[in-house]
Amino acid sequence: MGEMNLEPETQFNALTDLEQCSWLKSIGVVFLAAFLVFSGLIFLADGLCSTDRAPSDEELIAQRFEGLRDNPGELRAFFLAMPKGGDIHNHLTGAIYAEDLIDEASAQNLCINLDNYTVSPKYCGSANSEPIKNSYSDSKLYGQIVDAWSMRDDELLDESKRDHFFNTFGVFGGATSNTSAILANLRSNAFRENVSYLEIMTGAGSAAANLGSKTGWDDNFSVLYSKLIDNGLPSVSQSLSNYIIDTERNSLSILENRDDPGKNVTVRYIVSATRTLSREKVFGQLAAAFDAANKSGLAVGVTLLSPEDNYIARENYSLQMKMVEFLHSVYPRVNIALHAGELTLGLVPTTDLRFHIKEAVEIGQASRIGHGVDIMWEQNSDQVLKEMARNGVAIEIMPVSNKIILGVSGEDHPFPVYFKRGVPIVLASDDAGVLRTDLSEQFVIIASDYPQINYQDFKKFVRNSIEYSFLQGRSIWLSKGDYTILIPECASCRPGSKQINAKCKALLDGSDKAAMQWKLEGDLAAFEKGYAKGKQEMEFNSLSLSYPRAPQPPHILIIPG
Ligand SMILES: [Zn+2]
Repeated sequence: MGEMNLEPETQFNALTDLEQCSWLKSIGVVFLAAFLVFSGLIFLADGLCSTDRAPSDEELIAQRFEGLRDNPGELRAFFLAMPKGGDIHNHLTGAIYAEDLIDEASAQNLCINLDNYTVSPKYCGSANSEPIKNSYSDSKLYGQIVDAWSMRDDELLDESKRDHFFNTFGVFGGATSNTSAILANLRSNAFRENVSYLEIMTGAGSAAANLGSKTGWDDNFSVLYSKLIDNGLPSVSQSLSNYIIDTERNSLSILENRDDPGKNVTVRYIVSATRTLSREKVFGQLAAAFDAANKSGLAVGVTLLSPEDNYIARENYSLQMKMVEFLHSVYPRVNIALHAGELTLGLVPTTDLRFHIKEAVEIGQASRIGHGVDIMWEQNSDQVLKEMARNGVAIEIMPVSNKIILGVSGEDHPFPVYFKRGVPIVLASDDAGVLRTDLSEQFVIIASDYPQINYQDFKKFVRNSIEYSFLQGRSIWLSKGDYTILIPECASCRPGSKQINAKCKALLDGSDKAAMQWKLEGDLAAFEKGYAKGKQEMEFNSLSLSYPRAPQPPHILIIPG
């Protein structure tokens, strides 16, 4: 703010002089004053950092954006080029396309059961199965596998879309063991879509579930948790943490070896428990997820997933929220994002539509809600929405997923309600591979369906994707979700500028979140500048080669428990 004070004061002195001097003299004074103001600004720019005022590029791009609104093709190109920050709700094995999984399965010499297209090494040599490699020269078979492993051609299904969606994971599951290769693929795709950050969900696994069943049940969570520790929770969570570290490291070396720029995409992990399992298993998975996230700098949060309309998921919903609440008290630093309200009228009894989001926020302590589609059926939905807005609980909006799995879209979708009530919004892709979509498509759909959402709103959603991410460290913004005032350390710098002062540099060096936000600001400014100049296409992620580090992946720190 220093330079803002300098100018009026100098002008005031100049005016005082003007009253006392001759006309000619006063012109000289005016020039002198102008010179002083100008040099003062130059001095500040040199002494601190770049002080460029926000150009009108943003207004210009916002105007042009309205001209694209009715053309999905133009919107697609626009959003593909726009830096989108992070995709913070996506599932490791659901995000990869079937074609890439077929390559994985072929590389592992797996075979496919021709009755149900399940893939496994055990089918090799058995009746009615073939090496999956054969599909490369059998286009009919290849197409059938892609259809069976995804929502492609879903109009031809002889089962419900929901069932087909959830069943695919079991059918292609045998091809997903090489998680590093899958992650490398996702990073590469993200980079090419101008996405710099992925927060990926990966399962707590069967060892944690088995630990839960071996331990049994106790209504007293403290007692149950102690028993889990005695039965080996620390070693189960350590294996989970090691698996995440290995997946991260190996995916980076795959990308490094093929010189793929996807290596620049930062990844953090959310460890998930499966809500359709028995209460003992869910508690075991949640405990392992919390413990692993508490230990690792890579695992930054936990979640609960799987169909919310499942019998066990419905019956144990409140119990599971209490489990999360208890584990939150044990591990208060671990972030929580919960799938909640991924339901719609007719899918479950109406009683199940009344409380899931509220409990996820109030009992499950969720900082982010995934989907929240049934919000308007919640008891006191207005209060829940107010609470989310007031406490900055973000809603993850995934229009393609909701359209395909729940049949909810357009004016039936609660997106405009969340928007109007000021709930922080992030757009995410969920299971881009199975759903045959990508992050850009979510933006296109929102732009097409809701004309009240303008360019600045989309820019806010993009910024939200980092602000409400679980990246560690302080934000560059003074108050959460308000992108007008930088924190004091960086306040004299242009956001995203490569020239920064020492205090701001220290902040960016010490905070993954701040570093990613600074990069995003630089990327957005470069995108807007390029677009304002009439460049219709931006080179992929060529945008600003950000000042600081993009938080570099080898952030594989282990925080002592
Ligand atoms: Zn999800």
